[in-house]
Amino acid sequence: MSRANRATQLANPFTDTHTHLQMEEFGFRANREYLASEFRKSNLLIINDVGYDLKSSQDALDIELGSGFEHYAFAGVHPHYAEKTLDCEIDTLEEMLSKRKFSGVGEIGLDRWWHKDENVIKRQRIVFEMQLDIASRLSLPVMLHVRSAYEEAFEIMKNFPGLKAEFHSFTGTKEELEHICDNGYYFGINGVITFKNTHLRESLSREHLNLLLIESDAPYLSPVPYRGKRNMPQYIVETYKTISSILDIDLEKLKETVRYNFYDFISKEY
Ligand SMILES: [Zn+2]
Repeated sequence: MSRANRATQLANPFTDTHTHLQMEEFGFRANREYLASEFRKSNLLIINDVGYDLKSSQDALDIELGSGFEHYAFAGVHPHYAEKTLDCEIDTLEEMLSKRKFSGVGEIGLDRWWHKDENVIKRQRIVFEMQLDIASRLSLPVMLHVRSAYEEAFEIMKNFPGLKAEFHSFTGTKEELEHICDNGYYFGINGVITFKNTHLRESLSREHLNLLLIESDAPYLSPVPYRGKRNMPQYIVETYKTISSILDIDLEKLKETVRYNFYDFISKEY
């Protein structure tokens, strides 16, 4: 165990399993000191930065928060960018991933919510399957962005048995969550759970705790009381508190559970 690892375990920090600090909203280079100090103040010391195209993936890897943090990065092409991504760029992605600096592949998937054109969906599927194939060959976990396409995604995933996967930004029904968990996949809950009247509260249950990941998805989806403002990773504390009260589980225990789930997901020893 590294020294940083021991320090974070003593502090029982919060883990943000999915954020996008590389996005220009954060002006990371200029605001690095400030952001790191805000995260430290909130005891948010474990952060996973997720790419959505080649550049943002490399930028995710290049983020440096300084000492005391555990920082991880995922590389992948998001379904929004599938249409303009060339096959040769997927080859470049594979080269990037095979250097073993990234902890996984993501975010990748299918989005029929934003995209209705079947030609666009067709390309999404191809790019998705190419990346699942890379993840399988390199034994890396995948973070999935799936909207209005759960069943289709499950069908595709059947062709990649043994692959570790997480349905990020899960907002579905109890039945969908059960299906995800029955298949041994993880699911990510973000600030949406803090919104009043969300049906997501009824979907969650303690029996799925071993597959739960908590994420900010900053700069999107701010939790209450920041709803409508740009999201910041440290606001994730509100999401943890809400889940702790819904599931009636001690906050400290929840932090520990999510941290270990995340380590399991990325096959990190602890
Ligand atoms: Zn995201």
